[in-house]
Amino acid sequence: MIKLYQKIFLDLLFPKNCLICEAPGKHICARCLQSIPLQKENFCPICEEIETFAGRVCNTCENNHSKIYLDGLLVASYYKHPILKELIHRYKYSFIQDLSDDLAQILKRKLLSSPEFPWPNFIFSAVPLHLNRLRWRGFNQSTLMIKKLKNQLANDGIKIKYLPELIIRHRDTPPQMKAKSIELRKQNISGCFSINKELPKKLPKKIILVDDVITTGATLEECAKVLKKTGQVKKVWGLVLGRQN
Ligand SMILES: [Zn+2]
Ligand SMILES: [Zn+2]
Repeated sequence: MIKLYQKIFLDLLFPKNCLICEAPGKHICARCLQSIPLQKENFCPICEEIETFAGRVCNTCENNHSKIYLDGLLVASYYKHPILKELIHRYKYSFIQDLSDDLAQILKRKLLSSPEFPWPNFIFSAVPLHLNRLRWRGFNQSTLMIKKLKNQLANDGIKIKYLPELIIRHRDTPPQMKAKSIELRKQNISGCFSINKELPKKLPKKIILVDDVITTGATLEECAKVLKKTGQVKKVWGLVLGRQN
């Protein structure tokens, strides 16, 4: 852990500027951060076509597919938005942990704009990271975002609970699968996750899984499956900054 005086010293050596407009003070200034738009409409995470309540899986998809475990997905913003894309990239690949607070603000804005969805009754947890990514980066970026989100909401008088490391990832998926089909991705990811056995026996009924970006959704679906197979978890929702297609 970096000590406060070391941090002050580092800040003096390397003053922070907004990554976008270069205003001094922070990695992203309030104005640039606020200019990232929220995705107001919510779509079914499977077909991505039908607008649904809080991003619930639509009836057509529910009936057309083999069992879907994920109940819904809240997408906070647009991954293709250049500022958001840049922030996520810097956060994940330049190890700028301070950005977790800024990115959490986007998640917070999204949650506050969805008051009809009872998200404060859900328990928050992070989608587990690739093992080699975790070793390389040293932190789970989603866990960090949840911690910041929890603090920010507490400042607004809203309490949320979070369970760290609810799901364990014990196997990495091969990197060459990137371009392959969703079905194949699902097969490849199957069996990668399990419930953390060190947790209390009784699991929460409703869980929101946080991730920075969703691509095919296979990881989120597999996590939802593992949770629901316990028979204790009834609802699994996803919450992400953006969707990358
Ligand atoms: Zn700025
Ligand atoms: Zn659908």
